[in-house]
Amino acid sequence: MRLPVNWTLLCLLLASLAGGEVRAQSPAPQTADLVLLSGHIYTSNPARPWAKALAIRDGRIMAVGNDAEIVKLQGPATRVLNLGGRMAMPGIIDSHIHFLDGSFSLDQLNLDDAYTAAEIQNRVREFAAAHPDRAWLLGRGWLYDAFKPSGLPTKQILDEVVSDRPIVLDCYDGHSVWVNSKALALAGITKDTPDPKQAGIVVGTIVRDPASGEATGVLKEEAVALVRKVIPPPSHEQELRALRAGLREANQHGLTSVLNASGSIEEMELYDELRRNGDLTVRMTTSLMMEPQLDEKTLAQFEEGRRRFHDEWVRAGVIKAFMDGVIESHTAAMIEPYSDDPKVSGSMNYAPEQFRANVLELDRRHFQVITHAIGDLAIRTTLDAYEAAAQTNGARDRRYRIEHIENIHPADIPRFGRLGVIAGMQPFHCYPEPNLANVWARNVGPARLANSFAWHSIAAGGAKLAFGSDWPVVSLDPFIGIQNAVTRQNSMGEPAGGWVGEQKVTLDQALASYTRDAAYAQFEDKLKGSIEPGKLADIIVLSQDLFAVNPLEIRKTMPVLTIVGGKVVYEDEKAKLGPAR
Ligand SMILES: [Zn+2]
Repeated sequence: MRLPVNWTLLCLLLASLAGGEVRAQSPAPQTADLVLLSGHIYTSNPARPWAKALAIRDGRIMAVGNDAEIVKLQGPATRVLNLGGRMAMPGIIDSHIHFLDGSFSLDQLNLDDAYTAAEIQNRVREFAAAHPDRAWLLGRGWLYDAFKPSGLPTKQILDEVVSDRPIVLDCYDGHSVWVNSKALALAGITKDTPDPKQAGIVVGTIVRDPASGEATGVLKEEAVALVRKVIPPPSHEQELRALRAGLREANQHGLTSVLNASGSIEEMELYDELRRNGDLTVRMTTSLMMEPQLDEKTLAQFEEGRRRFHDEWVRAGVIKAFMDGVIESHTAAMIEPYSDDPKVSGSMNYAPEQFRANVLELDRRHFQVITHAIGDLAIRTTLDAYEAAAQTNGARDRRYRIEHIENIHPADIPRFGRLGVIAGMQPFHCYPEPNLANVWARNVGPARLANSFAWHSIAAGGAKLAFGSDWPVVSLDPFIGIQNAVTRQNSMGEPAGGWVGEQKVTLDQALASYTRDAAYAQFEDKLKGSIEPGKLADIIVLSQDLFAVNPLEIRKTMPVLTIVGGKVVYEDEKAKLGPAR
C-alpha cells in the first residue's frame, strides 16, 4: 500500500531532519520497479482497451501508455522488459476451482482421456507398480462413457488388477467415486449400510446390485464420504508440498487469482502460512461449505473465516451450497424427467423452504452465497431463494452466484440479469466429446438441448459471467476454456458452427469473464481484473495473440511471463524478454 502524499512528504521531512538516510532505501517516488515496453496490451478496461507499455511500482500498476510515456518512469533500479510485440493481459482469475484437490491430483493416478475399461486397468496396474509404498491408491478422471451401456463401472474391474490395496478413483466430475472391494471393506460398507441422509433427505447413493443388494463399487454424492473418512489424511508437509506444486502449475498457465469453490478454515490457514513464507503466488478467495442444517456452530465458523481472512491474498466471506448433483449420473434436479429414464428427475439436497431460510440467515449477515445448481429445477429454486432474500432483507450489493447452470429453463434466463445474479460457468465443461454427446445430451434429451450451457443468452439478459475451470474436474488451463467459449467445437473443428453454437460468446466476452467480471464476482473489481493505474499488478504475457490466431489454436497459448503483485512468478526463459537486469 502506498502512503498518501502528505505522509510521504512528512516522512521525507522527518528523514531529512534525521540525516536523510531513509531516502536511499527505496527508488525515488517517480520511478518504476518494473516496466513492460513494446507490447500489445489488452487491458480489459473498456474505456481504453489497448496499450503498448506499462509501469509497476510497489506491487501496483503505476501507469499505462505508450513506450515514450513509460520510459520516463525508468530509474537506475528499474527492471525493463521488452515484450517484442507480444500480447499481454490482466492475470487470469479462475472463478471456480478446487485448488487443494487439484494440487493433490498432480501426484495421483490420472484417468483423463482413458476411454475404455481396459485402458483404465492398464493405467491402474502401472500406477500400482510405480508406487509400491502407497497404502492407498488414489486417482481421478474416469468418464461415464467408458462403461457402456450402464455408464457406471464396477469394483470387479479394479479387483482384477489390484485386490490387496484399496483403490479410490474420483469420477472426473467429482460427484462419484469408484472403489475396489478392499476399499469397500475398509470403509465397512456392506449390503446393510444405509444411504446417507441429512435433515431427513437422502443425499447420497451406494450403488447396489439389484439382485443381491451388495455395493457394486460406485458411491454417489454424499455417500463418497463413507470411504473418504477412512483414507489417512495427508500430513501438513504433504499439503504444503502439494500446494507449492499447484501454485507453480497455476502460474505457468497464467492464473493469478482463484475462487475456491470448496474449502475450510484449515485450508485458508495453509494459504496464510504460504503467504507468510513468501510462497503464495496466487490470490486465494476460499468459500466455506453450507450443509442443509445451518446451525450456530457453522455460522460461528463462517464469521471466524471472515474475521481472520479478508485481504487481497487470502479471503473468506463466501458461502458455497450444493443444491443438486450432476446430469450424467441423474442426480441433477430437473423440472421434467430425464429423457433416457422417465422415472427419474433427480433430486435436491434441500427442501426449497429450508434453503430459503438458510439463504435469508446468511444474507442477513451479509455473506456472499454461491450455489452449485446444474438442473433447471435446482437453478430455479436457487433463484427463488435469492429473490426472496432481496425482497425480505432489502436492496444490497449481494453479487450472489449460481455455479454451473448446465441446463436452464428459458423462463429463468432473464432472472440472472434482473436479480443481478452472477453466472459462474466453466466453458470447458461443454467440450464436444463422447461424454457430452453420448451421456449428457442423451439424458437431457433434444427438447431441452438449446438451453445447455447458455452463456450467450444469460449474458444477453444483462448478467455477468464469471468463468473458471473447476480443476481438477478438467485442466486449469484457461486457454482451453477460452477456446471452447468461443468455438464449442472439438479440436477437429466439429461440429460445424459449434455444439449448440448459438450459445458461443465473443473473445471479448470470454476474456471479460476471466478478468474484470471475475474480479467483480469477488468484490475486487476496484482492485484487479483490468490493467489500470492503481490496480494490483497481476499481468500475464502470452506466447501468441489471442485475437490474431485461428480460434481453434487458442488452446496452444502459453504464458511466457506471469506477474503477481508486481513480482515475476513465472518466466519462460526461452522467450528472452530482454533487456533484463
Ligand atoms: Zn466445482
